[in-house]
Formats: sequence, C-alpha cells, structure tokens
Amino acid sequence: MIRYKEIFLGNQCNNHCLHCLFRQKNPVKPELQAVINALEQAEEDSVAFYGGEPTLRNDLSGIILAVKRKGFRRIKLITNGCAFSDIQFLLEIANAGCYLFEIKIWGSNPDIHDYLTRTTGSFRQTIQGIENLQRLSCDKFICIRIPMCCQNYKDLEATVTAALCLGINRIILQFQDYHLSLKDVLPHIKNAVNLSILNRVWIVTEGLPFCIMQGLEHHMSEIYYGWDTLFEKVFKHHQYCQDCIYQELCPGVEEKYLEQFGNNEFSPVKETKYLQDILAFHG
Ligand code: SF4
Repeated sequence: MIRYKEIFLGNQCNNHCLHCLFRQKNPVKPELQAVINALEQAEEDSVAFYGGEPTLRNDLSGIILAVKRKGFRRIKLITNGCAFSDIQFLLEIANAGCYLFEIKIWGSNPDIHDYLTRTTGSFRQTIQGIENLQRLSCDKFICIRIPMCCQNYKDLEATVTAALCLGINRIILQFQDYHLSLKDVLPHIKNAVNLSILNRVWIVTEGLPFCIMQGLEHHMSEIYYGWDTLFEKVFKHHQYCQDCIYQELCPGVEEKYLEQFGNNEFSPVKETKYLQDILAFHG
C-alpha cells in the first residue's frame, strides 16, 4: 500500500465548483517554509499536493524540485488540470520531477462540467490539459477522479467513456453528494465499473460501503488505501451492521447520508468470496 504525505498548498482556485469541499471565505496560502517543514516531518516516501488548485502557485516547480532533492520517490499533483492547457507550464512541472497526476472531471461535456465548476471554458481547458499530458514523452500516470452528484450521475457512463478515450491510467468514482440516493446512482456505477474493466483500465470507488458494492468489493479504494481521505467524513454503523461479516472492517455509512435517506438501502453481507482476501490484505 503506497502512503502519501498529503500537503495542502492553499485554497485559491480557478474553478468555483458547486460541490467544492475546500471552499473557505478567506484565502489561505501556506508559506514555502511551512511546506518545507511539512516535508521534513513526513514519514512517508511519497508526497501528494492538493488545494484549492496547486498549479496556481508560482513557486510550484520550486516546491517539486525541493521534494525531489529530499529524496521522495513519488510526487502526485491533485489538480483540475486547467493549467496544463499551457504546454510550457506543464513542461516546467514535468521537468521539475512530477509525473503523477490526479485530475477531476465533473462530466462528459462542457454543459455539465462547466455548470458544476461554474467556470465557462473549464472543460475545454481540462481536456486540453490531459491531451497535453499525453504528449509528454516521460513515463507519466494519469488518474481521473469523477465526483458523483445529483447533477451529473446520469452522465457517469459517458464521463467514464470520455476519460477512457483520453488514454488515462485509472479512474476513481467518488461518492460525495449526500442528496443523491445510492438507489439512483448504483446502476450507473455498475455500468461505469464494467465499462472500465472491459477497457482494461483500473477503476475504484470511494465512499461506498461493502454492502452496496457486493460482488465489486475489490473495486473499493478503501481496501487498498483505508477510509481516511482528503475529504472529511464521519462514518456510522446502522442497525443492520451488527449482522454483517464486514462489521469489524467497515466503519459504516456516512452520517450525513443516513440523516438524509435512513438505512433502508443497506442490508448485512452474510457471505462473500472476497472476505478472506480482503482480511489478508489488511493483515
Ligand atoms: S458493516 Fe454495515 S455499512 Fe458496512 S458493509 Fe456491513 S452492513 Fe454495510
């Protein structure tokens, strides 16, 4: 399991996403020295930078060079990818030593994506950024994160198809809108997972419990990376968890979801062929 030291580079952003989880009223931008200090305290051998939008920092390539000099093995940039529509900027970042990218896409077309980013032209810039990334001759890795919400879930299969057409390496389907019922989104998630499998691109979900993902448990990111993510969540067991074979391993369902929809969509898992593998993986 690769563990990344996650370092916040500030909340400034060139998009204004409707469902942004990091929006704060006042601008926050850690000083370079604070970033260096965070690197020095890192126990991990890999670093992930996130924001806001980390590419808006004019000292980003210097920060990446500093990470390289300190001997970290991997540097990941979590970004909306818009800045990479400028190939010169992208070359500066890649030449500094960053080859891992996680890019968020909200939809398969500008109507949905720009509506959700509330930024006209952002879809075109993000897609151009990914196309520019593909032109790099270095051995890069591109992951696409698709946050699922009420406004885009019917477009999920089309969004995954668009990502696959861009030649990306991995897809994350992130469940983050607690006004969207699992009953509505689940058929789209299953289609999206199968589409990606058929195209031999690894796909994982984030934020969905085992009982919802039955048969696809090995596509849950949590079994590889744990339940802690950049996005603050409070999980809670519900009345059916006590009879579930995953009870020890699974923290339950996001509290906000249970408040909104109750627990009727969940039922305990009584048996699965994956349990022993998953337990062995977690030690
Ligand atoms: S412990 Fe609860 S939430 Fe987790 S998989 Fe089992 S029934 Fe679902």
